[in-house]
Amino acid sequence: MNITVIGTGFVGVVSAAVYASLNHQVIGLDVDEVKVALLKQSVVPFYEPNLTELLKTQQAANKLSFTTDYKAAIQDADVIMIAVGTPSAPDGQADLKYVFMAAESLAPHLKTGAIVVIKSTVPPGTLEKVSSLIKAKTQHNFFTASVPEFLREGSAVYDTLHPNRIVIGATEAEVFDRLEALHEGLQAPIVKIKPESAQMAKYAANAYLATRITFINQIADLCEKNGADVEDIIQAIGHDQRIGKHYWYPGLGYGGSCFPKDVKELAAYSRSIGESGNLFVKINQLNEERLAQLVRKFGEKVGGWQNKTVAFLGLAFKPNTDDLREAPSTKLIPALIMAGAKVTGFDPMAKPTNQQLGLTSADESSYSQASDIQTACLNADVIFAVVEWPEIVSFDYSAIKLAKSQVFIDARNRFAPDRVTAWGYKYISIGRTS
Ligand code: NAD
Repeated sequence: MNITVIGTGFVGVVSAAVYASLNHQVIGLDVDEVKVALLKQSVVPFYEPNLTELLKTQQAANKLSFTTDYKAAIQDADVIMIAVGTPSAPDGQADLKYVFMAAESLAPHLKTGAIVVIKSTVPPGTLEKVSSLIKAKTQHNFFTASVPEFLREGSAVYDTLHPNRIVIGATEAEVFDRLEALHEGLQAPIVKIKPESAQMAKYAANAYLATRITFINQIADLCEKNGADVEDIIQAIGHDQRIGKHYWYPGLGYGGSCFPKDVKELAAYSRSIGESGNLFVKINQLNEERLAQLVRKFGEKVGGWQNKTVAFLGLAFKPNTDDLREAPSTKLIPALIMAGAKVTGFDPMAKPTNQQLGLTSADESSYSQASDIQTACLNADVIFAVVEWPEIVSFDYSAIKLAKSQVFIDARNRFAPDRVTAWGYKYISIGRTS
């Protein structure tokens, strides 16, 4: 099939490369000329493991190309996938302007019988709006569907090649059949449902995972008061098959490009229909409050942040990505500096500008970025392990222990408390009192 993927961001590039690997002829289309120029040379403008190799293979086989030209990309396409961003609007709702712009731009070039698929995360009802925007600009018959994406950054190529399921939201049998054929070669159950359910399923999945993170943080907060250890709790409840051992991450709350904005959308929608006391509103609120609470709580434990030198280890929102969207670093570093600390950041892949970290020119003298852990920790009063990159977790901090009192904050509970204490640091973690 001829496939065009509109939007060559994280989801778009990975999807385009994987569909090419399934023997389709794929074009990636974006309005960002710089991004397209890089992709044409097999340069991925962000860090995602194994993506460059897949891209190079598919481009060398002439199955994958990139363009900024809507007409050239759409006129022969059997399936057009809209994979543009859907960031939060100021009121928390999903801002759909990029989706609508893509729909209006593609419409004049559609061929009869093409399927326009929304892959972006969008609220129920969006497909109808997209359909009427397209109808206003074409005489050709076309189909629509929703195929939400569930990949995780950091393992996006693996996830797309080995999906847990493929969700197809459509109303016509022909569309289900053609989209099922599109995914032939992937071993995954296909869930065929109506478009509104497909769109809501994506929000439900992200909100559920965000809820687990918030839930275990609430338990951790109680453990810090009553002498229990949240890691013991995870072990104990994890044996219950209804609960499971997976996906328990006590720490800084959820961040990244998806969970915060998707929970915000559910919260905004809930408020708009008079459900302002529901779970999604509360989860969103708890997550928004968490980092400021932790800055205060850790601040008390380190004897105040004023004049403290902090080694801040991990700037991306999680390991194996350089994505800074809603990364804890973008809120914690400005807050630490505001509280009087001097911060040196380090990340194996993310090298943010001061602007990306939300720093003002007044903050700049209080922030620097190191190219390795050792340099970041030079003279540090506090080592703040924020992201569980393997490099950060496996580093031998005994070798750099200074002859002064130093605190080690393990914000992801990835270090053995006894080990860190034996190295000579005062150890602080999440949901553990000793
Ligand atoms: P992104 O911001 O990385 O990329 C979006 C791309 O769309 C950009 O390159 C931008 O230039 C392009 N674009 C915007 N308007 C355009 C237009 N009118 N025509 C052509 N290109 C246009 O976004 P992303 O992270 O890939 O996310 C895309 C969608 O997928 C979002 O709805 C997101 O919620 C969803 N999603 C993301 C992830 C993830 O981990 N990133 C996972 C699952 C689902």
